[in-house]
Amino acid sequence: MSIKADCHLHSHFSADSKASMEDMIEAGIKAGLDTMCFTEHNDFNMQEEFEIPKEDWVLNVDSYLYELIQYKQKYEGKMKLLFGIEIGFQDSCIRENAVLAKSHEFDFIIGSTHLVNGVDPYFPEYFEGRDREDAYHAYFEEELHSIKKNSNFDVYGHLDYVVRYGASPDAPYDYGRHAEVFDEIIKTLLDKEKAIELNTGGLKKGMKEFHPCEKLLRRYRELGGEIITIGSDAHQPQNVADGFDRACELLKECGFKYYCVFEKRTPEFRRL
Ligand SMILES: [Zn+2]
Ligand SMILES: [Zn+2]
Repeated sequence: MSIKADCHLHSHFSADSKASMEDMIEAGIKAGLDTMCFTEHNDFNMQEEFEIPKEDWVLNVDSYLYELIQYKQKYEGKMKLLFGIEIGFQDSCIRENAVLAKSHEFDFIIGSTHLVNGVDPYFPEYFEGRDREDAYHAYFEEELHSIKKNSNFDVYGHLDYVVRYGASPDAPYDYGRHAEVFDEIIKTLLDKEKAIELNTGGLKKGMKEFHPCEKLLRRYRELGGEIITIGSDAHQPQNVADGFDRACELLKECGFKYYCVFEKRTPEFRRL
């Protein structure tokens, strides 16, 4: 496997994972990785109805860092462990998120949209009463808005995450319907010197495409995007480095020569 860094990973510090950090690291070693960046969730003002208490989505960064440091020492020479975070962007918490991003010396910050007007597309109510593509479009518009409003992040996470919940997982969506907003998302990211990730997490949901889809990856490259990180978004050890061989081939087909690993908020380029 030529991709040896998984840069989107969760453990029990994230509200929706029960995985021990050590089990995740051991899975990474088995998968042939040399670098893993944990990106634990922080979502202020998460949706009330979620089966997980709202406050659990606020990360205890110090506890997380404390445990990570133990494993950094234990696995020195075997696995490079990086200190990342995935911050859920919403209008209601722009300031809190900016303060959080500055509160610690993170290696890597993923900005993500998980809620649109307070509703997670994970719930069927998000799609109720409207056309599927319209519901997707609202999510992409929200991403564009967030990207404009927030600045302290390195990559924007799982760009077309919403399509995971809207249709049968292997059905493609109408890219042309959203092409304009995608272009604006990409151009805004590039203007702000931000990047995207290739997120293979849809595989466990039965999706054929990764996030974002191939068309969007090609467009990002075409508009000059070079920096791209790769992450499985694994919440369990068995999903670490999921689909990385295919991800590598896909990126090469789309014209990428390198993938990136962020350390101290700076991208290191590694050949695909
Ligand atoms: Zn996410
Ligand atoms: Zn994630």
